[in-house]
Amino acid sequence: MAETIPHWLTKQADLSPNHIAIELDSGDAMTFRELKEYSQMLAKKLANLNIEKGTHVGILSSNSIIMLATIHALSYLGAVGVLLNVRLTEEEMNYQVKDAEVNVLLTADNFREFAEQLDVPTIFSFSDMEKLQPRETKLQTELHLDDHFTIIYTSGTTGFPKGVIHTYGNHLWSAVGSALNLGIHPNDKWLIPLPLFHVSGLSTSMKSVIYGMPIYLLEKFDEEIVHHAIMEKGITIASVVTVMVQRLMKQLGNGQYPEAFRCMLLGGGPAPRPLLEAAKDKNIPVFQSYGMTETSSQIVTLSPSYALEKIGSAGKSLFSAQLKISGQTDAQVGEIMVKGPMVTKGYYKNDEANQRSFQDGWLKTGDLGYLDDEGFLYVVDRRKDLIISGGENIYPSEIESVLTGMEQIKEVGVAGKQDDTWGQVPVAFVVKNEEVTEEEILTYAGERLARYKLPKEVRFVDSLPRNASNKLVRNKLM
Ligand code: ATP
Ligand code: MG
Repeated sequence: MAETIPHWLTKQADLSPNHIAIELDSGDAMTFRELKEYSQMLAKKLANLNIEKGTHVGILSSNSIIMLATIHALSYLGAVGVLLNVRLTEEEMNYQVKDAEVNVLLTADNFREFAEQLDVPTIFSFSDMEKLQPRETKLQTELHLDDHFTIIYTSGTTGFPKGVIHTYGNHLWSAVGSALNLGIHPNDKWLIPLPLFHVSGLSTSMKSVIYGMPIYLLEKFDEEIVHHAIMEKGITIASVVTVMVQRLMKQLGNGQYPEAFRCMLLGGGPAPRPLLEAAKDKNIPVFQSYGMTETSSQIVTLSPSYALEKIGSAGKSLFSAQLKISGQTDAQVGEIMVKGPMVTKGYYKNDEANQRSFQDGWLKTGDLGYLDDEGFLYVVDRRKDLIISGGENIYPSEIESVLTGMEQIKEVGVAGKQDDTWGQVPVAFVVKNEEVTEEEILTYAGERLARYKLPKEVRFVDSLPRNASNKLVRNKLM
């Protein structure tokens, strides 16, 4: 794909100069023309730091206008933004900045002290960046779709995080695929309560520029603010993860969202069935989706017309993407393989992972799933977390999903334990909401799960091991 397009922000600023590009809950807003001018100004300032085409520039910030404008500024210089999760420890962060060969780090002021301990030659806070004098520089007027735009590390749920390269083409096709699925309505306003340093947040902010659509950008998730925004601020789409849906449902109580709110796009991890059913009962338009850092956000989505009929399914692959199941582990379940122009071409300088993960142009996702007779995808679990007990396959997420339905249980993680008789047996790690015994849990589970899937042990814990993306790390449960 050697094609070239006009720089997308310059183009949108020309097409819709006075349309709102970004709105904040403080009431501040910025139009596409203002966003372009601000981003170009920052690009000219950054030119002082020897940032040029191909330079890897780390960005350490929670969501803000200046963070987003800095990302656009890098695109005007042809530099590559390495987006860092602010919740990483110093050691984890050093691993990523070294692995991605970050030469310059731009940090929000509140992370400056932390940033100064990192192994990066040049560190600049956003306010120092703003103080630089703009320098006359030739800014990119076009984007080459094959050029690298960003590097985002996977969450590190199954091992060391891997640096995923996203080209401009990956983002463009992700935006096109999503638009062909969800449609673009003239009044659309997409709420981003997820960090821009994850692909979900970043890709939505690129959709904004590609569609000419406003985003409602939050610094971080807060159920009261999100609830208020959906009720009062004309939000039509919101990207969320499971725990946000749970909290928002509580906030909604017996209320109803306005009709204009047409899509709560749920991704990032498994969605327990009891939650999807509760959302359905409340008429919340939850659209399940499946994707990963490598696919530049969702690559499979359940389209609106099937949302109720196929509850629990992640849907079908987007228009320009393909999906297949390979290497069955039992009757229908096998590894999910995906292909399409939104899929990364590879991990940065990681031949071993590249060889392991790509096969004839397909990405081996490491996730297990199956297709029903109409071709709808059901994501079952990660291959690495599969428990094989007496020759039967047990998927921890199925047990977790069932136990999550129990009111007394706040959260639960399941992992396999070595067993002389069965090879492995499932053990449930439970964080309680209120008093509950092992026996009650097993009785509840016994009514809903086949015998061989029943946890052989329940361990009560105060919290579950989670990574910087707040994902359950099952191999640390034991
Ligand atoms: P790492 O690759 O480093 O182990 P990670 O896979 O958690 O980390 P992400 O790219 O943030 O990193 O997450 C993508 C993963 O999230 C998918 O591969 C899948 O396991 C899980 N996931 C996403 N959507 C769904 C879904 N609808 N149902 C179940 N799991 C999902
Ligand atoms: Mg992964």
